[in-house]
Amino acid sequence: KAWAFWRPFSLFFGRSPAGRERVGTTLVELIETIADLRARLDADRAVGRSIGFVPTMGCLHDGHVSLIDAAVAANDRVVTSIFVNPLQFAEGEDLHDYPRSLEADAARCGSAGADLVFAPSVDEMYPRAIDTVVTVSAVAAPLEGRYRPTHFAGVTTVVAKLFSIVGPCRAYFGAKDWQQVAVVTRMVEDLSIPVEVVSCPIVREPDGLAMSSRNINLSVEERRQAPALRRALDAGVALVEAGERAAPPIEVAMRAVLSEVPLGEVDYAAAVQADTLAVDGPLHDDVRLLLAVRFSKARLIDNDGVQIPGI
Ligand code: AMP
Repeated sequence: KAWAFWRPFSLFFGRSPAGRERVGTTLVELIETIADLRARLDADRAVGRSIGFVPTMGCLHDGHVSLIDAAVAANDRVVTSIFVNPLQFAEGEDLHDYPRSLEADAARCGSAGADLVFAPSVDEMYPRAIDTVVTVSAVAAPLEGRYRPTHFAGVTTVVAKLFSIVGPCRAYFGAKDWQQVAVVTRMVEDLSIPVEVVSCPIVREPDGLAMSSRNINLSVEERRQAPALRRALDAGVALVEAGERAAPPIEVAMRAVLSEVPLGEVDYAAAVQADTLAVDGPLHDDVRLLLAVRFSKARLIDNDGVQIPGI
């Protein structure tokens, strides 16, 4: 079953990349089954259209829209998936509190220029208990992997399945989930999946808080304190820029800023090599600073990069 959301041309005006024709209205199709999506995309592939893919869990904000923008700019067809994937939530995490807003999301996808929204049910994706799990080992082990030990296997399994359903030329992920990009990139390389993984910059609120669907689960006071994550990253970056090459003092400096957030419990504040997410002696080249802070009903993550010039 597929149905369509029509909206005025004016919402779309100016977004159409060269070579794509949009006349009068824009159309985004909402597709719920794997078979319908495949049929739709097979027809596009048959006439040589490139396919860009933006996987999301919905409750879309400007961070997601920036991924759709990047996909629209580089592909003939853009598919956004909206699927809150139970596999990547552990017992006691926020699967049932995860915000959902499918109709508004579909409209947002349409006005951003996406062509198709794939919103399958859990039964459609997992008609029986899944017996096949895709796991990435070393890159998935530290940081998020330490605090959410089953999370990345859920992510890589659903992303591998979505890649197999969509067959995209390019897939767009946010640097906000830095480790996720590293894990998915590694999976694609190791399994020779024919898709280009594109990492897009973090989109922030005016006060520096990284946009996240989970931000609406912050209390008013937590929301007031949350921009401290951005300030902690700034403090870490400043230390590296001042010449610090050891991870522990940078982590201490970031934690000191986060201590201004009494409502948030720090899971980690880490300075690591950007590609391996590990420390192999003094920090060098591409360094990534990453944070995870737990509030009462929302766990926030954020990160920033700093380049150490070669000698
Ligand atoms: P989610 O719906 O949280 O699973 O996110 C879907 C995609 O949007 C992931 O690739 C995220 O990294 C990306 N994303 C989420 N928030 C942001 C943001 N603030 N800036 C850029 N990308 C984001």
